[in-house]
Amino acid sequence: MAVQADQADQADQAPRPQDLRVAIIGAGMGGLATALALAKKGFSNIHLYENAPGLGFVGAGIQLAPNLVRILTRLGCWDAIEQEATEVLETSIRDGATDAELTHVHMPNIRKMYGYPHCTGHRASLAGSIYDACLKEPGITFHFGCTFEEITAYTPRVAFTVTRRASTPNSPATPDTPAEETLHETADVFLAADGVKSKTRTQMMATLGHEASVEDTGQAAYRIMIPREKMQHDPEMLALLDSNQVTRWIGAKRHWIAYPVHNKTIYNMSSTQPDEHFAAAPSATYTTTGSKADMIGVFNDFCPLVHRLMDLVPEGEVCEWKLRMHKPLPTWVHATVALIGDACHPTLPHLNQGAAMAIEDAAVVAEVLSRAPDTDPATLHRCLKIYEFVRKKRTTTLVDLAAFSGRTLHLGDSKAKEERDRLFAASKQSGANVPDKWASPDVQKMIYSHDCMKLTADMFDGLYELL
Ligand SMILES: Cc1cc2nc3c(=O)[nH]c(=O)nc-3n(C[C@H](O)[C@H](O)[C@H](O)COP(=O)(O)OP(=O)(O)OC[C@H]3O[C@@H](n4cnc5c(N)ncnc54)[C@H](O)[C@@H]3O)c2cc1C
Repeated sequence: MAVQADQADQADQAPRPQDLRVAIIGAGMGGLATALALAKKGFSNIHLYENAPGLGFVGAGIQLAPNLVRILTRLGCWDAIEQEATEVLETSIRDGATDAELTHVHMPNIRKMYGYPHCTGHRASLAGSIYDACLKEPGITFHFGCTFEEITAYTPRVAFTVTRRASTPNSPATPDTPAEETLHETADVFLAADGVKSKTRTQMMATLGHEASVEDTGQAAYRIMIPREKMQHDPEMLALLDSNQVTRWIGAKRHWIAYPVHNKTIYNMSSTQPDEHFAAAPSATYTTTGSKADMIGVFNDFCPLVHRLMDLVPEGEVCEWKLRMHKPLPTWVHATVALIGDACHPTLPHLNQGAAMAIEDAAVVAEVLSRAPDTDPATLHRCLKIYEFVRKKRTTTLVDLAAFSGRTLHLGDSKAKEERDRLFAASKQSGANVPDKWASPDVQKMIYSHDCMKLTADMFDGLYELL
């Protein structure tokens, strides 16, 4: 009896994974969601380091697919986003030059089929809602103005350095505050959601003797947002803004995708085109203010409606992003360090799944770490390998499919384009096999029905024995 009581006492006192010190790098979609998902599992010592002095997001729209909405709902931050989101009920794929419709896909049953809607929203609303939910969690501490520099040891605990700059919202400058200081930090688990330029990825791959070079896609994207006031004089434009439709205009090597956001008060447009402005500085910069004249020139042969929309953007409000990828990595995990989101699987945007994949990663990391039977580093490593196992095949499939879909959308005059347009026309009748994979019901089924949290919970015990 006494032995049993002792054992019970010891079990009560045994360290729990929830007490581990977890460091997260990056307050983008992946990092914020990781912090929140871990806090929801009871983790109480989570430290998030973000380079920027505060939360700041490029004003732009984002598609919120059912697989993402499922997780946001479970994390308790969907309701606020939904209030300003637009439910997508149809999509129209059009020839950029003539505005002729190539296909039209109705999707009124997405909510019924997958249990969650497909919406478009504002990036600031997605990030802001996850951040607000994080602020309600006492276990999460934000360190803004803190740049992760280097991992100095992987074992027995992760040791790393951070440069902290003075004068951030949570540490205002004083006469005694140094402008910059180096912090020496440690963590039991180190989760790097530091984006496509991830320093952690470069360092981890160098430690393991692998190359981790970024791949140039040769593509860039313009992102513009047009307020309702500017569109309301034009019935054709207003119909787009008041619709529940995503519209794509496609041409050789280029396209626009557009949809209403923010309670239909803003029309969000995002393009893809050959990268001509960043090519000279491939690793230095990723976003810049684009020239309106250049943008109009790139889409010179597109139809009058697209030109009328582009004309409405004020000079200085054209944002241009360089689109970046890198070759698949041999691993995402070393010791108790793991990569998350764009740090390990950056993607072209053609399936609209980049943020969704980062947030799915976050949910899976929380599932595996909360199930760790003990807090030994070897156990935590095993759990992180389960995360990698569950996520790698799926994200590789989606990244490849996004690239494939982009190649199909961007075909120039050729036999292949004729065949694509024949398939577009056939899909109008059948509602299936749409060459734009984002809009194809078979691909949507594969992406939207995926419940990564349930899958991880179901597979954890078996994988723990195997890996
Ligand atoms: C044109 C375009 C359209 C897109 N449309 C969609 C869409 O419709 N739907 C969708 O799901 N996805 C979309 N995406 C993809 C999506 O935006 C990204 O995949 C997603 O934001 C990745 O999130 P992340 O957290 O991994 O990285 P990021 O959002 O890049 O966040 C990384 C964070 O880490 C910080 N950081 C970096 N280095 C350090 C350091 N050393 N120390 C401290 N902090 C650091 C950065 O400041 C940043 O805050 C689109 C992308 C593009 C380019």
